[in-house]
Amino acid sequence: MKVTYCASPVLAVREFNMANRILTSNLLKNDKLDVNFNYSAFDCYMKYDKQSFESAKLFDHPFRHSPQLWKETLRLHLSTYHYPEIFADKFYTDVILMSCLSNWYDYPFIAALLNKGHKLVLGGTNFKLWRSPEWVRNMMISLGVKEKYLDNFIIVYGVVDLTTDLHKIIKDWKNVKITENDFSTVWDCEIDYLENIKNTLCNVVGMDLKSESARKNFSNVTFLLNNLCWWGKCAFCGFVLQEKMDFDRGVKAERIAQNIINTARRLDANRIYFSNDYFSFNKKTKGILEILKNASEDYKISCYSGILACKDEEYLHNVNKYNLKYLKIGLEAGTDFALGMLNKGYGVAEVDDTVEKMSKILNKDVEITLHSIVDSPQRSRDEIRQNYNNFLRWRDTLRESGIHTNVVASSYAIIEEVNDDKCIDNVFIQPCEIDEAQSGRIKFLNELRNSFGDVVNLKSYDHVVPFNRIGFNGETLPTDFEVVPEETLDELYNKNWGWG
Ligand code: SF4
Repeated sequence: MKVTYCASPVLAVREFNMANRILTSNLLKNDKLDVNFNYSAFDCYMKYDKQSFESAKLFDHPFRHSPQLWKETLRLHLSTYHYPEIFADKFYTDVILMSCLSNWYDYPFIAALLNKGHKLVLGGTNFKLWRSPEWVRNMMISLGVKEKYLDNFIIVYGVVDLTTDLHKIIKDWKNVKITENDFSTVWDCEIDYLENIKNTLCNVVGMDLKSESARKNFSNVTFLLNNLCWWGKCAFCGFVLQEKMDFDRGVKAERIAQNIINTARRLDANRIYFSNDYFSFNKKTKGILEILKNASEDYKISCYSGILACKDEEYLHNVNKYNLKYLKIGLEAGTDFALGMLNKGYGVAEVDDTVEKMSKILNKDVEITLHSIVDSPQRSRDEIRQNYNNFLRWRDTLRESGIHTNVVASSYAIIEEVNDDKCIDNVFIQPCEIDEAQSGRIKFLNELRNSFGDVVNLKSYDHVVPFNRIGFNGETLPTDFEVVPEETLDELYNKNWGWG
């Protein structure tokens, strides 16, 4: 059976991620499938990305302060303009597996492929793909898919591992939920198609595969040991809704470490990124890190961490001992009120204390990124400004101690979707009708419409809940970027990159 595989185009070039490696390893091992990996889609994406990045510089847009939000801007631009049609022209088989779907940017691409008459197998571990087939069908109607193509897709729910029979799933052509997994097989993935992607990407951007810049740009390889966040309580968190993936359960540290070493060698990557939701040092992780430390390669290892972990001095000593070089800290907010609303489990005093410990204990070659949510729940303009001033203060304490530290505005994480259990629903953040005064993602979308005009089609974002932040006095608070002085934003997002 001939099929074409394509990862979500907006995620395709991020890194050699684990989900793509597992899925393509599965496809390559299945004798009954003749799989074509669609590299031209990546090529097309990279060229377009470069062009939109150039043209974006011409706009004097408030999101210029945050590379993350700029990227979102570009992706939105990418998915709503003519690009999905160009992308859809690059496929030549009837059946297309489109996976690792991540978010709302993907829907216009799915619509364009359906409108070309392709049959799609949709899947991905992200919780947003728990959407029902009816929901996806309605979304396709609103994105203009012709009636005759509306049922030309199936959805594969659940996690693919090396034991999943994708040939059977495609042959049966029914929506399916994978209920049986052998997660340990993930550590047997020794072939995938990512090496070739690296060649393609270097060609597109005109980089020598062996050059230092190619090495720097395409040398991240991601490993997920599990997605079981030990905290699991943040009010805005969507990750806890994901399918549980416990890849390291019952698997020896040696087997995992050997697979990490083999994969990094095969992809010529030296940056190993543990994408666990909240990294902890247990017997297993210590065993893996010990082996990596003693390997002949000089790995740069990074992970997601947080204040609750880093307030423990032993944790910081372990970061040094096991050679972790980059911590992404999901700090998120800088006032007690916002931290309480987000249910992060700590307040400003605890962050002060933790930052102090980090600056004293961590080796100076550890790099840190503090993540902050834009438009977090706040009660007044003063509180919004305080939020940013505290981030500046924490960053500077770490920088003054000699540690490379940056702050990034990660996203509008709050109330991204209609989900009764997850909405922060009280007097300070109110779901509301769309209006100009909004904070959060709707504000972001309105801004985009103002900057980019009619090309921004909001139909695929209908599920985003608009909300207002309400201050002490009942006033609606605008987005952070309108309240915080320009100089503070410029100073805060002034990057001092190390290797991360
Ligand atoms: S620490 Fe991260 S993964 Fe865990 S609950 Fe909070 S946001 Fe979710």
